[in-house]
Amino acid sequence: MFNISQNVRALAKDAECALSQVFKEIDITAERNTETVMAAFRRHHVSDTMFAGTTGYGYDDRGRETLDKVFADVMGCEAALVRIGFVNGTHAIGAALFAALKPGQVLVSAVGAPYDTLSGVIGISGDYHGSLKTYGIGYSQVEVRADGTPNVEALLQVVASPDVGAVLIQRSRGYSTRPSLSVQSIKSMCARIREVNRNVVIVVDNCYGELVEATEPGGSDGGDLICGSLIKNPGGGIAPTGGYIAGRADLVERAAFRLTVPGIGGECGSTLGQNRHLFQGLFMAPHIVAQSLKTAAFCAKITEMAGFVSSPKWNELRHDIIQMIELGNPENIKAFCEGIQAGAPVDSFVTPEPWPMPGYDCDVIMAAGAFIQGSSIELSCDAPMREPYAAYLQGGLTYESGKLGVMAALTNLLDTQSAEG
Ligand SMILES: *Cc1c(COP(=O)(O)O)cnc(C)c1O
Repeated sequence: MFNISQNVRALAKDAECALSQVFKEIDITAERNTETVMAAFRRHHVSDTMFAGTTGYGYDDRGRETLDKVFADVMGCEAALVRIGFVNGTHAIGAALFAALKPGQVLVSAVGAPYDTLSGVIGISGDYHGSLKTYGIGYSQVEVRADGTPNVEALLQVVASPDVGAVLIQRSRGYSTRPSLSVQSIKSMCARIREVNRNVVIVVDNCYGELVEATEPGGSDGGDLICGSLIKNPGGGIAPTGGYIAGRADLVERAAFRLTVPGIGGECGSTLGQNRHLFQGLFMAPHIVAQSLKTAAFCAKITEMAGFVSSPKWNELRHDIIQMIELGNPENIKAFCEGIQAGAPVDSFVTPEPWPMPGYDCDVIMAAGAFIQGSSIELSCDAPMREPYAAYLQGGLTYESGKLGVMAALTNLLDTQSAEG
């Protein structure tokens, strides 16, 4: 039914045998996180009267207010702001940075360049009115070491300066080849930063990391603010749009002032009947994240068996849902992405092409056939068309469909390679 070769089906069987213990570990984390989510639902008396939502100003939206509290608990934080009014993760992270910083201060990125779409927000590239730069906020970044791990000593030297107002730590690898950061390593970085500068606000870009481990990188021993997108992990494939910020209550309020306006903050913002989707998405999220982790581990194993280098390795501990596969050249990237596209439930008949995406400095090819446009908790594969020609795969609402997509992609890749001889 699917274009999957006998060779790839045989590899898949062996890959799954090898993965049984890895899958067990993923299930254990999903169960713990489900307990965390359900305990928060109970504590805050989630009820179906909260699902209808509001229109207009959105005053006294009990669903919205309760969802904020539930999210705060799940993220281990004092407060949270969960809104369909955040257009994406970049918007939430941008609001957090504006909450953290004042004119005259400096933002420091702790692990090299931040995610591409933040360049315009910070003022690294583009020259947009309203960027941090136009508000007189400086920027510097500390490169990671040659092996991709954080250079904490160099970071501490930079952060010790009283001009530094905020540090941005990106948990996930994004479109870079460095490894993602564990919650433990982020928390120990936070402790060391606070030893040299007690006033600095630590913002964690938590995109793709939510619910992968049993704890999150916020709270009293973690980042002051953590942020992400609802069309990734914490929306469980059900939230139709939105983003969240969780953390210290005073800073979350400032971020709300940035999302709307000072003085109004999070008190307004109608939910237009979407509350149920956000609650149900969060309820599903631990399980859905587990499905995508299994898809990623399967992809790592089967591509490795076929001779490609993948990171993380199939049996490595994961801190986000991203799987990198080094494909080496543009033809392989296209073949793999075409296979992922063909294995999608939606738009399986289209051919993905590299194109200049807003916010990215080179052409990007994106394979995705998702129920929610651009959702990357649904199976998707992107690759910036630049060295080292690595593809980044993430998502999979069900392991079964994720596995099919990966098998279709590998079949197409191996066919292309043998056609090229
Ligand atoms: C997805 C992502 C973002 C935000 O991207 P949006 O497309 O704006 O949601 C930021 N940082 C990382 C690491 C991401 O993966």
